[in-house]
Amino acid sequence: MPDYDYDLFVIGAGSGGVRASRIAASHGARVAVAEEFRIGGTCVIRGCVPKKLLVYGSQFAHELEDAAQFGWTLGAMSFDWAKLRDFVASDVDRLEQAYTATLDNNKVEHFHERAVVTGPNGIRLASGREVSAKHILVATGAWPVMPEFPGNEHCITSNEVFHLAELPRRVVIQGAGYIAMEFAGIFNALGCQVTVVNRSDQILRGYDESLRDRLLQITMARGIDYRFNSPIERVERNADGTLAVTTKGHDPVTADTVLVATGRRPNTQGLGLESAGIALGSNGEVPVDDYNRSACSSIHAVGDVTDRVQLTPVAIREGQAFADTVFGGKPTTIDYANIPSAVFSQPPLAGVGLTEAQARGAFREIKVFTSDFRPMKNMFAERAERGLYKLVVDAVSDKVLGVHMIGPEAPEVLQAAAIAVKAGLTKADFDATVALHPSMAEELVLMR
Ligand code: NDP
Repeated sequence: MPDYDYDLFVIGAGSGGVRASRIAASHGARVAVAEEFRIGGTCVIRGCVPKKLLVYGSQFAHELEDAAQFGWTLGAMSFDWAKLRDFVASDVDRLEQAYTATLDNNKVEHFHERAVVTGPNGIRLASGREVSAKHILVATGAWPVMPEFPGNEHCITSNEVFHLAELPRRVVIQGAGYIAMEFAGIFNALGCQVTVVNRSDQILRGYDESLRDRLLQITMARGIDYRFNSPIERVERNADGTLAVTTKGHDPVTADTVLVATGRRPNTQGLGLESAGIALGSNGEVPVDDYNRSACSSIHAVGDVTDRVQLTPVAIREGQAFADTVFGGKPTTIDYANIPSAVFSQPPLAGVGLTEAQARGAFREIKVFTSDFRPMKNMFAERAERGLYKLVVDAVSDKVLGVHMIGPEAPEVLQAAAIAVKAGLTKADFDATVALHPSMAEELVLMR
């Protein structure tokens, strides 16, 4: 039996890597993890968590505006970007310490440097130290894609957006996916002039069409400009320091910041996986089987680096499943059906299961129920924005195949509805549930 330094060496201390390390250690494994940036990974350091805090911070603009209708007289108001930015950064520091403490409490050794694979059981750290492990887990996540165009060096990605020195007056955002729509909402609420430019003629590909249309309508009414079929062709720095952004078929637009959010690619460059006989996939991903095992039996991969579903809770589940399978004697696979997801745009949208278009393609006959309503709070505040909930139902079995919603707090409501979809409940089950009044969520059981 070869003698290894560790039972498990994890590369990447993000959501998937930390969960796998902790659980493997709790199963008795000797575990080490290497992280070249900060413990916590994308979600904690420069993704979900700081983004959600910026969403909260920016939403006050609408709340304060609506407050007058509820009797509040507010004095002179101002917004301090540096204050919000720095509070968010300090919360990220707190969380990084909490994640580090989790590793320490579980006796997981951590190296704060880059690690690369040198063979099926070999790892080399940036310091030059070579270590061996019976199992290696690649959990290196993904990295923003920057398309090629002249002047792209003037643009930023979601990695840099949390650290802007000043709040830009004019922002151009390239892409119309999760990150683009979330930051369009944040910057718009904070009073910036926002232009979203996309290569296609749609936003949020993959979400239900009626919700996407609703988000487009509301955000246009809130002042966001859209340029469709119009990707950036070039960005030039003007003499006054501003940026001239030329997009296909349009005159240049002036911006202070250009945020590019055109997808994220698995972080495998220079990782040495070929030394273990692993051929990367077309997007640079590590191909794995249902048990997260790569072509090399001692090397596994979880999370965004596998390019399956780029969502934190999925990476966490994959990390847990890997550790239980390899170190807990409990072979575990993930059920990827009916994963709920949300976009923290303003208003947010959320969905689980099949969209109407997907269900029409997969089922003989479906029924679609919608509730197009004006939330009570919006009515009172004289805010014209309407919510939209949709149930997609198999007409034969009456099973609810999908729930989709846009409106205030939609992600909070959707999480509970996702349990019903996952459990295979029927429309009759929804109808049999008494409404919780007055709420927006009651629309879910009142659609006839
Ligand atoms: P998305 O895949 O969501 O959207 C990418 C956007 O960029 C699309 O509008 C797409 O156009 C466009 N695009 C793609 N490639 C190019 C290109 N080469 N040139 C020009 N435009 C291009 O990516 P994001 O970067 O927004 O987010 C990455 C991932 O991170 C998401 O897929 C999601 O999994 C995760 N994420 C999840 C969040 C959440 O759960 N709330 C929040 C943020 C990120 P087209 O219209 O043609 O598709």
